[in-house]
Amino acid sequence: MDAALAGDWMRAAAAAVAAGAGRLTELDTAIGDGDHGANLHRGFTAVVAALTESPPQTVSEVLVKAGTTLMSRVGGASGPLYGTALRAAGKALPATPTVEPAELAAALHAGLAAVRRLGGAAPGDKTMVDAYAPALDAFETAVAGGAGLGAAAQAAAGAARAGAEATVPMRARKGRASYLGERSIGHQDPGAASTGLFFAALAEVSQ
Ligand code: ADP
Ligand code: MG
Ligand code: MG
Repeated sequence: MDAALAGDWMRAAAAAVAAGAGRLTELDTAIGDGDHGANLHRGFTAVVAALTESPPQTVSEVLVKAGTTLMSRVGGASGPLYGTALRAAGKALPATPTVEPAELAAALHAGLAAVRRLGGAAPGDKTMVDAYAPALDAFETAVAGGAGLGAAAQAAAGAARAGAEATVPMRARKGRASYLGERSIGHQDPGAASTGLFFAALAEVSQ
């Protein structure tokens, strides 16, 4: 992956969030405050603008800039969480023009660790972690088996989507949805759904 491809990833994520904002808002209306689609749409629109205004030269800088922008532009829980993940992932990468799939795997690992540190959510708590953790697992396994970026991203995207779907029967233990207790059961977590879109965007640009 090079900086241009990383930029394409962020643009594909922005497009997917724009197209899926209505659904993300619907999911967040069921178990939260109904702003997840708007939050991420505002945030990723700002990310695309920031990357277009001064295109970074390394993947590391692309991810750090995207994360910093999300942190400053998204007020909800998801802004700091996505922002922290992207910043930690970017900082874990070498400042080289291109990065190898194994380096990206390590960066994604650092991103998940940062989300878990900040939000305190474990797998099964019905959050974005439930999509991110299996996606990372699938990505790492594929890379360890010799897969290229495209195949690893494809595996991660499938696992993220399945992970998001698996949040439906869970009871939320973190975030606003946890205020609903038992009533959070039966709905997909919006942040897990958007994490699915984020990994699908990586797969889309990596083919
Ligand atoms: P808010 O809840 O502040 O309105 P959003 O609606 O944008 O923010 O994002 C909600 C999503 O954030 C949830 O669906 C969940 O995936 C994620 N989330 C909330 N709290 C946590 C947490 N402590 N750890 C991990 N993810 C969380
Ligand atoms: Mg919300
Ligand atoms: Mg909110």
